[in-house]
Amino acid sequence: MSFKVQLLRHATLLLEINGRRILVDPMLGKKDSMDPVPNASNSDRIPLVELPISDSGLEALLYNTDAVLITHTHRDHWDIAAQQKIPSDTTILCQPADESLIKEQGFTHVKKVEPELHWEDVVIHRTSGQHGTGEIGKLMGTVSGFVLVHGKHRLYIAGDTIWCKDVEDAINTHQPTHIIVNGGGAQFVQGDPITMTTDDVLQVAKFTKAPVAVVHLETVNHCHQKRPDFKKAIADNKLSSRIAVPEDGGWWELQ
Ligand SMILES: [Zn+2]
Repeated sequence: MSFKVQLLRHATLLLEINGRRILVDPMLGKKDSMDPVPNASNSDRIPLVELPISDSGLEALLYNTDAVLITHTHRDHWDIAAQQKIPSDTTILCQPADESLIKEQGFTHVKKVEPELHWEDVVIHRTSGQHGTGEIGKLMGTVSGFVLVHGKHRLYIAGDTIWCKDVEDAINTHQPTHIIVNGGGAQFVQGDPITMTTDDVLQVAKFTKAPVAVVHLETVNHCHQKRPDFKKAIADNKLSSRIAVPEDGGWWELQ
């Protein structure tokens, strides 16, 4: 019974759960293949970096993928390249708000997770989040996280959310053994951050005993807080044994 996670890039994760492979939030485009996020403090094309695998490695990975799990359909989680490269009969698991859009994109095996779904020998629970505050938070639309339960492991993938009551509720309800949060402190020129800042991540770690990994970093132009910012905040708060900041391509075997 093994449960392993590889960070590919940004929020794109590969989960290997007892031989089954789930690809999470695929953004598969080449470096610079998309326009920048508008209304940010810079206009660098995205993704800012390449995937850590070769084209043929990606092809093999998609061939061996059993399901794709999508937290929401913003293009840094579900880009055109993913829509083109992933076979249209792949099982796609998503939040109810995205079911019809993904079907319209031509995918024939789309299943919504609401409030939970049993897939193979994994139970997947949907959780809520806030993709920002106020009007900007509303404009960002509905986002989800998921808790994947297999054996003794309960992995909470929080998705694009700031630290908020929804995250507290998800942790209280599902008692995750491991947590992955989306950092970067993504922010437009106006308004508050729309993904977790260093302070948000520290709050998560103080609220739970589960180990935390921070992803969603250094790939999209409006993510202003980078790996060194997170590493410094973690070290300053003596939480290095509890919070990891993986590099692209890095593996995490859940214990
Ligand atoms: Zn995002």
